[in-house]
Amino acid sequence: MKVIKEISSIQDISDYYRYTGKKTALVPTMGFLHPGHTSLMLKAKDENDIVTVSIFVNPTQFGKNEDYSKYPRDFQRDYHICEKAGVDYIFNPDVNEMYGDNNLTTVSLSSITDKLEGKIRPGHFTGVATVVTKLLNAVKPAYLYLGQKDAQQNAVLKKMIIDLNIDTEVRICPTLREESGLAMSSRNTYLTPEQKDKASVLYFILNEGKRMILDEKTGDINSVKDRIRKIFSSKAPEFELQYYEITDNINLEPINDLNLYKGEVLISVACRADTTRLIDNVIFHKE
Ligand code: AMP
Repeated sequence: MKVIKEISSIQDISDYYRYTGKKTALVPTMGFLHPGHTSLMLKAKDENDIVTVSIFVNPTQFGKNEDYSKYPRDFQRDYHICEKAGVDYIFNPDVNEMYGDNNLTTVSLSSITDKLEGKIRPGHFTGVATVVTKLLNAVKPAYLYLGQKDAQQNAVLKKMIIDLNIDTEVRICPTLREESGLAMSSRNTYLTPEQKDKASVLYFILNEGKRMILDEKTGDINSVKDRIRKIFSSKAPEFELQYYEITDNINLEPINDLNLYKGEVLISVACRADTTRLIDNVIFHKE
């Protein structure tokens, strides 16, 4: 496994593999890797010849009062995890390599970025879309592996890839969870053991919403949301529920009459445990 720090070097490597007809994949990450990331790498390795993992904590997707400077970093640990997973290249540019000192170009999407996470974190998805465009232009992968955990990010990147005619196919992998149901995340390291315990409430309310829609056939989105808010405040009164939204999984528009809707349903949730933000989702099909 090789560590590459320069864009021009990873571009040369990518050109070589494309030229020799190899199947190439990129798993973009911000490092501090956990088994959720590893599951993406293993799937990518299983389905491709050459796998690159990018490790880059992207400053432009963090708001002013967010956790960019304290975001957990441990390159040596990440290196060993990637090596064990059979990764071929780690692309680990520094901020200057990615943005230089006069970056004037950003990539931003309308409407789809105004809701859910985008509403709470203005500018976040412009940072994500910009950095992923830059990573795709550097690594030029045939396949991009993403985790279901970040459902809105996936919808944004899928749309961006279509709109900008980028020659990469997206593959979404399932969310890996702790035994409690809590979705694995690098940010879980911020949680105290008690908060971590309580945080399993997110998966509980996602499944409860799914059950109300599929089993109880509740059609009114507000009945589901009211019941969920009650459950949340009784189980985790010390957490703040930021949103619980039931939408389609492409444009992320609310589904008002669930009984009339057919297709993929996305339930997204975000909460704050003290200063730590947690997000999660479930996706299911409705006939
Ligand atoms: P991050 O390092 O948090 O930016 O995540 C990098 C990639 O890993 C994204 O595509 C995430 O959706 C994915 N990911 C993060 N957590 C998980 C998880 N628990 N299970 C599966 N994929 C995940």
